Formats: sequence, structure tokens, C-alpha cells
Amino acid sequence: MSYSLLNDQIVKNDEIVIDKEDRGYQFGDGVYEVVKVYNGELFTATEHIDRFYASAEKIRIAIPYTKDKLHQLLHQLVEANNVDTGHVYFQITRGACPRNHIFPGDDVKPVITGNTKENPRPVANFENGVKATFVEDIRWLRCDIKSLNLLGAVLAKQEAHEKGCYEAILHRGETITEGSSSNIYGIKDGVLYTHPANNLILNGITRQVLLTCATEIGMSVKEEAMTKEQLLAMDEAIVSSTTSEVTPIIDIDGKAIGNGTPGEWTRKLQAQFETKIPKGINA
Ligand SMILES: *Cc1c(COP(=O)(O)O)cnc(C)c1O
Repeated sequence: MSYSLLNDQIVKNDEIVIDKEDRGYQFGDGVYEVVKVYNGELFTATEHIDRFYASAEKIRIAIPYTKDKLHQLLHQLVEANNVDTGHVYFQITRGACPRNHIFPGDDVKPVITGNTKENPRPVANFENGVKATFVEDIRWLRCDIKSLNLLGAVLAKQEAHEKGCYEAILHRGETITEGSSSNIYGIKDGVLYTHPANNLILNGITRQVLLTCATEIGMSVKEEAMTKEQLLAMDEAIVSSTTSEVTPIIDIDGKAIGNGTPGEWTRKLQAQFETKIPKGINA
């Protein structure tokens, strides 16, 4: 038996029915989050929940209960599904009503759903690194919102997939922004570079943890955008996200980054990141 989150309740999966006129379905009118579960424990849940409320507020959806309540529900869901290592996905939409771009009245309530997935850590990628490809960033100008509208990301990721690459590195003109569902970094002479957290990227929770890790191991951090050319000339490159954690990029469009294997700073960052991970109640 598997369970899902539906508004303020944990219910059996087959008890969830989504209205065909839900605005999430028709407009992608909502926001979402993915939180990693390690050894049965939610990782950086508070930060993800804060961002969820912030994303919802930016599109003027009021979440109908407190952050503590949501935290508690996510915890219950993870327990109910007995998740060991994987993630919990959750989203909110503006609700169901006859199709109309204009917001519905207060009688239409937002719809919150969530589910879990058992999903092993991609340790082979951490060890060996991955290939990436440059794709033009055609998304909108509010990439700071974790929107359900993911067409730009879907098209970019598919293009990368068809080229045999793990991730699409998005660029606006010559400037690197982020990955299709991740953040991108370059390392040169022990300095970690990544795009500043503004409206052109989603400020990853993993990004924030990684920047802390970098400082802790004595790297300097520059939140400055890189050009494609600058990224290709870096000693090392990294892609980060909740599920990708700290994954080395060893090749972009057939060009090796550094010597084409994961670099020393990346290894140190991975080790530092590892110290942050919940070890569970059996540790
Ligand atoms: C979710 C996401 C990220 C990574 O955020 P995390 O909180 O680290 O998972 C980066 N970029 C985009 C576009 C995303 O949707």
C-alpha cells in the first residue's frame, strides 16, 4: 500500500482524483518542490518548505496551512511509505474551475498533492562524472519561481538526452545561467564560480549547501555569471541538485573539462557535502 499527500491529509494513492479543470493541468498554474530523503530522514526540509511558500507567494497562491503543518505532513508521508533513500515530491495548484486565465474567486481552493519515490543515490555519476551539452535558455524571466510550467526545461533535457548527455547547460546568449533542473559551477584555481541567485536561476537548496561547503573547505566563492567559453576553460565543473547532489561534469559537447576526469576540488566538495547528509536513526 502506498500513500499520497492530498491537501492536509495522508490518503491511499487510489483515493486521489484530479479534476480535469485543475489549473495545474490546464495552465501549469502552480509550484512544486522535491526534497531528498536519506536513511528515512528529510534533508533540508525547512529550506525547501520556505522556498515552496516563497514560490507560491510570488504567483499569489496562499497555502492554506502553516509551514510546520506541511513539515509534519511530509514526515508522515515518508513514514507511511517507509522511504529509506529517495525523495518526496509535492506541489500546489490554484485549484479547479472552468478554464479562464483570470484567477478564480476565493471559493476555489488550491489543491496540494505529494508522493514519495524510493530512489538510490546516483553514486556512479558522483564517481565518474557526466557529460553535458549547451542549450539556449528559452525560459521565461522568473526562473526564481519553482513553477510547474517546465516546457523550457523539458525541451532542453530531452535535447541533452538525445545527445547522450546527462544535463543541458542553459545559456542566454553567451552567458551560462543554470542546468535544466540543476545549478552549474566552474572551478578555476580553487575559486568556485556560479551564476548569482537572481530572477534568471532557481536558487537551489543544494546550491546553498554547496556554497557553504566551499567556504568551509577554504575555497573562495564568486557568484558571477560565466560565459560558455569561460566554463569550457575551467579546471573543473559541477552540476548540483537535490537528486544529483554534487556531480562532476567531465565533458561539454565533446570538449573535456580539465583532464576529463573529476578534479580535486570536486572531490573535496563531495566529501564535505557527505558530512551534511542525515545518517538516520540507525547511525
Ligand atoms: C529544482 C531546480 C534546481 C535545483 O534546486 P535544488 O533545490 O538544489 O534541488 C535548479 N534549477 C532548476 C531550474 C530547478 O528546477
